[in-house]
Amino acid sequence: MDDLSRFCCHNFNCPDCGQRGLENLTVCGHFGKDNRIRLLYCRTCKARFSERKGTPLFNTKLSDEKSLSLLDHLREGCGVRQTRRLVGVHRDTVTRLARLAGDHAKTLHDERVAFSPSHR
Ligand SMILES: [Zn+2]
Repeated sequence: MDDLSRFCCHNFNCPDCGQRGLENLTVCGHFGKDNRIRLLYCRTCKARFSERKGTPLFNTKLSDEKSLSLLDHLREGCGVRQTRRLVGVHRDTVTRLARLAGDHAKTLHDERVAFSPSHR
């Protein structure tokens, strides 16, 4: 049985949209190279979506390991050329994934910081 507690429905018209742990999701298939990406199904609204939807890895063809390695190198301060050489990807892949991860981190930051208690 797949652990889907970290996932939620992404359909804005669904009453369960954005809520985790409701057990409304099931795995209805796999796709991508080697069928490694799960296709999730929401029993509430009948929507299907990639387990990567809403993440920087959505629509990327890189494996999880390679994507995370690329982001680890950038986080440790490696430049685009160093990261490209060490991970073995094209430089455009490095910049594209860096931009997507940065946008994702900014959105998460804005969402979390907006609700932080004020300091006195
Ligand atoms: Zn739904």
